[in-house]
Amino acid sequence: MSDGADVVIIGGGIAGLTVAHHLAPHRRVMVIEAEPTLAHHTTGRSAAQYLETYGGAVNQSLTLASRHFFFDPPPDLVDHDLLTRVPFLHVGGPDDRELIEAEAARAATFVPGVAVLDRDGLRRHCPVLRPEAVGWGVLEPDAMDIDVMALHQAFVRGSRRHDAVIATSRSAQRIEPRPDGWRVHTSTGPIDTHFVVNAAGAWGDVVAERAGIDPLGLTPLRRTAFTSAPATSPVGWPLVHTHVGSATLAPCYFKPEAGGQLLCSLADESPAPPGDARPNEVDVALALDHLDALTTLGLRSVRRAWAGLRTFTPDRQPAIGWEPTAPGFFWMVGQGGTGIQTAPASGALAAALIMGVDPATVRHGPTLDPAAVSPARFRA
Ligand SMILES: Cc1cc2nc3c(=O)[nH]c(=O)nc-3n(C[C@H](O)[C@H](O)[C@H](O)COP(=O)(O)OP(=O)(O)OC[C@H]3O[C@@H](n4cnc5c(N)ncnc54)[C@H](O)[C@@H]3O)c2cc1C
Repeated sequence: MSDGADVVIIGGGIAGLTVAHHLAPHRRVMVIEAEPTLAHHTTGRSAAQYLETYGGAVNQSLTLASRHFFFDPPPDLVDHDLLTRVPFLHVGGPDDRELIEAEAARAATFVPGVAVLDRDGLRRHCPVLRPEAVGWGVLEPDAMDIDVMALHQAFVRGSRRHDAVIATSRSAQRIEPRPDGWRVHTSTGPIDTHFVVNAAGAWGDVVAERAGIDPLGLTPLRRTAFTSAPATSPVGWPLVHTHVGSATLAPCYFKPEAGGQLLCSLADESPAPPGDARPNEVDVALALDHLDALTTLGLRSVRRAWAGLRTFTPDRQPAIGWEPTAPGFFWMVGQGGTGIQTAPASGALAAALIMGVDPATVRHGPTLDPAAVSPARFRA
C-alpha cells in the first residue's frame, strides 16, 4: 500500500518549504525530510542576511521580488517583524577606490540608496575598523537581518493550513518513473505522485541520480562561521565584509548578533561532499587573523562555531524548473549563499511553473524570465 500526493517535495529546508507553502492551496502536497527535524542542514546554519546588492543579477531579482513578503508578511503566519535593520558595509583598502566605485555603480542599478564612503565615513559607521587598513567602502543602508526560523515556520504553517503533509525522518531512496508520474521509495514506504520536486540542497545531484537523471553539476561549498564576544558593544554596527577583489584586505566578515556577540566568518568556500558539515579550525584561525588586520577588535575566544554547505550550480545562479529529460521532475536547487533572502519569490516562481501559470501573475511572483533559472541551460 503506498501513500499518494500530487506533488512530493524532497527536502525540508527553506527551499522545500517555500514551494510547499505556495503550492499547498492548489495541490495535494507532501514534504519529506530525511532528518528528524526540519531545517537541520544549511537553512539552520546561515548568517541570516538580506542584502539586495548581493548574489548576482538573478539572485538580486529574486531578492527584490521577495521584498513584499519580508516587509509585509501575512499576519496569520508571522506575528512579529521578519527583518531587523543591519546596514551592509562592503570595504576595500586605501588602494581600492576604483574597485569600490565600480562596485557602487553596479549595486546602484538595483539599489539606488547605496553610497561610497571614504575612510572617515567607514569609521563613523564602524569605529573598530583600523584607519590604516581601510580606505573606501560601499554602504547599503537598508540591508537587514532575517529571522530565518520565523520565515521557515511561516512556510510550515502556511503549508499545514492547506493540509500539506510534512514528514520528517523519511528519506527518498529510489525514485521510479510510472506512466502518470513517479513512485518515490522512502525509508518508511513508497509514495505515488504526479510530480517530484528536488529541494534536497547539497544532495540535489544525489536525489537526481536516484531517479536515473544526470546530475546538474552542483557543488556544495563549506562555510564556517563562529561567534565571539568583543570588548566593546557592537550594537548599531553594520555587517562589514571585505571586498573579494581588494588589493590589500584579506577575506572575512563580521556582524552584530544578539547578546553583544559578533558573528564572524572567513567567507570560505571549500568543496565538500553532501553531509553534516563541521566547522574547520583552520578557517576559524585564519578568520581571526584577517579580522585582526582589519579591526582593533582583538578577538581571541570563540563561543560557538558551526559550518554549512552553500550549494552552487555551475553558473552560481539557482536552478528552478523542469528537468528537460524527465517529465514531472522539478529542480529547486543551487540556492548558494542567498537561499533565505530569495525564498519567498523562488517558491512563488516554482509553484507557478509547477501549476503551469505565468509567474508574473502570481502574488509575490518575480518578473524574472524563467529561462534565466531553468535547469535546461545545463543540458545543452
Ligand atoms: C555560513 C552560511 C551563511 C549563509 N548566509 C546566508 C545569508 O546571509 N542569506 C541567505 O539568504 N542565505 C545564506 N546562506 C545560504 C542559505 O542558508 C541556503 O541557500 C539555504 O539554506 C539553502 O536551503 P535548502 O533548503 O536548499 O537546503 P537545506 O536547508 O540543506 O535543505 C535541504 C534538505 O534536504 C534534505 N534531504 C537531502 N536528501 C534527502 C533525501 N534523499 N530525502 C529526504 N530529504 C533529503 C536534507 O536533510 C536537508 O534538510 C548561508 C549559508 C551558510 C552555510
